[in-house]
Amino acid sequence: MVRDITHFIGGSGIPGSPEANGGRWGEVFDPSTGAVQARVPLASAHEVRAAIADAEAAQPGWAATNPQKRARVLMRFLELLRDETDELAALLSSEHGKTVDDARGDIQRGVEVIEFCIGAPHLLKGEYSTGVGAGIDVYSMRQPLGVVAGITPFNFPAMIPLWQMGPAIAAGNAFILKPSERDPSVPVRIAELFLEAGLPAGILNVVHGDKEAVDVLLTDERVRAIGFVGSTPIAEYIYSTANAHGKRAQCFGGAKNHLVVMPDADLDQAADALIGAGYGSAGERCMAISVAVPVGDDTADALTAKLVERIEKLKVGPSDAPGVDYGPLVNAAAVDRVTGYIQQGIDAGADLVVDGRGFSVPGHEQGFYLGPTLFDRVTTDMSIYREEIFGPVLVVARAADYEEALRMASEHEFGNGVGIFTRDGDAARDFVARVNVGMVGVNVPIPVPIAYFTFGGWKRSGFGDLNQHGADAFRFYTKTKTVTSRWPAAGVREGASFVIPTMH
Ligand code: NAD
Repeated sequence: MVRDITHFIGGSGIPGSPEANGGRWGEVFDPSTGAVQARVPLASAHEVRAAIADAEAAQPGWAATNPQKRARVLMRFLELLRDETDELAALLSSEHGKTVDDARGDIQRGVEVIEFCIGAPHLLKGEYSTGVGAGIDVYSMRQPLGVVAGITPFNFPAMIPLWQMGPAIAAGNAFILKPSERDPSVPVRIAELFLEAGLPAGILNVVHGDKEAVDVLLTDERVRAIGFVGSTPIAEYIYSTANAHGKRAQCFGGAKNHLVVMPDADLDQAADALIGAGYGSAGERCMAISVAVPVGDDTADALTAKLVERIEKLKVGPSDAPGVDYGPLVNAAAVDRVTGYIQQGIDAGADLVVDGRGFSVPGHEQGFYLGPTLFDRVTTDMSIYREEIFGPVLVVARAADYEEALRMASEHEFGNGVGIFTRDGDAARDFVARVNVGMVGVNVPIPVPIAYFTFGGWKRSGFGDLNQHGADAFRFYTKTKTVTSRWPAAGVREGASFVIPTMH
């Protein structure tokens, strides 16, 4: 039976209805079987404005709640989430297609940021300088922005909403989430759990939809900041539109993460890293490694042979089947897009070492599967090198020497993550210092920073000044007020002054 998903506005599940949304719905698949399992209402501008109004009405009371009490709501939320992790992981996996274990990781990465946000009372502290002049003290405070909104991608339906809502709410804002319409159920459940944990109604709202809903969030003057994560063309659109409407924005886009493999690297470790980071979650991760850059032909030949051995053992199947390494892609359009890229690689003259096309799982023939694909001898002018494929396709782009490998990663238009495998500390330090990419790994497959550091790519992977989570998140979701205060000693009067005050 196809179930109907609801919005979550003002503390209640709000069904989509022809009167409210003009009858526009999206389909939510079970990618493992290819069947439609739910429909999601696509909000009208009217419904989004109603959510903004609820959020605006609730926010001052929440901002006036002391930060420690706000943090306690996050603590209770974590307990509720922990009790329900298995059910949530199963639900997430059934809409996204990633394995249930990987779905648990998606939730856990979000949990770690909420744990960090419990420190909000400390993170929101301002600075204080006493006696900067006679009887004069200067101090600063961080105040919430008001109503803020987040627009999130399909590939991390728990983690990225939690990365945004955690600091936004802990800082005293009201938050409106427009999650991906492809896997929208987990964000709604998260909002219900927050309500159960004691968050006042209206502080966290989930509005489903597409461009129509997003455009209201971008243009309505009551929304003060926009966090976006998704593909680069949409990130650019969101960033420029939000800025044009006077909003703060941080927008994170696509990626093409390189892993440089030096001749002295432990090639088994490097191959294991590439297999996990290249094919995990069917390559549908912004931190997936999609380009291997072996340095020198000997390294490339040996590495490619090790990759092929491992690819032959990969198990692809339904997302809830035990022992599966990765599941289906999110929908049929994604399979078509990735298959199209494989054809482009062949046409451009790349060496197709393993072809994942035409892969199907017996009993699940309608599922959105694609086998692991490996290209060798890919050059920097090919579309399979330049563009994000976002599927289980790993390309090997050989570099003649270290400088060429460094240049490739640095000159690529995306700059999300990059890694190097080597046993040479000098090379690793040089790489870390010089590479023009936002997040760097040394002998690790996926350099996703832990919650108390910040996450963000460079170049066309990130638009805006502040990163996600860590201290930057609290800077993004607050504005600084600076106070200069004078309490002159009794009877002291200086009279009027007509020059600008200085510290002379
Ligand atoms: P997407 O850009 O298609 O969608 C992201 C969000 O934008 C969704 O909520 C969607 O409904 C909305 N949207 C789509 N088209 C829109 C439009 N024309 N106007 C307004 N809103 C629109 O991305 P996706 O396919 O859901 O996610 C995959 C992409 O996200 C990949 O490019 C991946 O690299 C990227 N991603 C980046 C990061 C990062 O931190 N840099 C993290 C995860 C995913």
